[in-house]
Amino acid sequence: MNLVLLGPPGAGKGTQAVRISKAFGLVHLSSGDILRAERKAKTELGAKAQDYMDRGVLVPDDLILSMMMDHIGRPEAANGFLLDGFPRTLAQAEGLDARLAEKDRKIETVINIEVDDAAVTRRLTGRSTCPKCGRIYHEEFSPPVKAGICDDCGEALTRRKDDSLEVVGQRLKTYHEETKPLIAYYQNGGLLKRVSGEGSVDDVTAAIQEACRR
Ligand code: AMP
Repeated sequence: MNLVLLGPPGAGKGTQAVRISKAFGLVHLSSGDILRAERKAKTELGAKAQDYMDRGVLVPDDLILSMMMDHIGRPEAANGFLLDGFPRTLAQAEGLDARLAEKDRKIETVINIEVDDAAVTRRLTGRSTCPKCGRIYHEEFSPPVKAGICDDCGEALTRRKDDSLEVVGQRLKTYHEETKPLIAYYQNGGLLKRVSGEGSVDDVTAAIQEACRR
C-alpha cells in the first residue's frame, strides 16, 4: 500500500505516521525529517533548504520532488510507503503522480487529519522532541517526568526553531494557501479519507487504520 498523510502542521502526522507505517509494514518518508537530516549532515540540499525552513515557507518543488523520488525508489520502499509532509503543493502532487506512473506505481489512499488552527498552534508552540529517540512531548498534554529531559533516554529535549509562535503563524498561512487545495485534488481522484485529529493519539490511530480498510 502507498499512503499519503495530509493535514496542517501539528495535526499529529509525525506521531501517527510512525504508528501506521509500523502497523502496515510501510516505509515512513517524512519530507521534514529528511530535510532536517540533510541540514544536520551539511549537504548541499540541506544548505539550500535551510533559509526556507527557518522562515516557515516551502522549499522549492523541484528540490523536494527529486529528494522524495530518490527515497521512494529505494529498495526498502518497494513494498509500500507512507508519505508524511509531502506532497504539499498541487505541483508536487501532480509531479508525484506522473513520476509514480512512469514506474507503474500509484498512491492508493490519502488520509486527511483534520484539526483546527487554534488547536495546532497550541500543540506546536508547546512541543519538544528528544534528539536521540525522536519521542515528542508537549509541556501541557504529555510532559516528561523531569522538565526538559526525555523519559526514555535521559537526553535533553530540544525545540524546533520553526515552532515559535511567529513561524507557526507563517506555516499555517502557507498550509492554507498552498497545501489545502490538495484535499480537493485527492477527493476528485477518489482517494481521500477524512479523519478527526482531535481525539487521543490512540483514537486517531484507530480511525486511520479503519479508514485505510474502508
Ligand atoms: P515539517 O517537519 O513537515 O513541518 O517541515 C518543516 C519545513 O520543511 C517546512 O516548513 C518547509 O520549509 C520544509 N518542507 C517540508 N516538507 C516540504 C514539502 N513537501 N515541500 C516544501 N517544503 C517542505
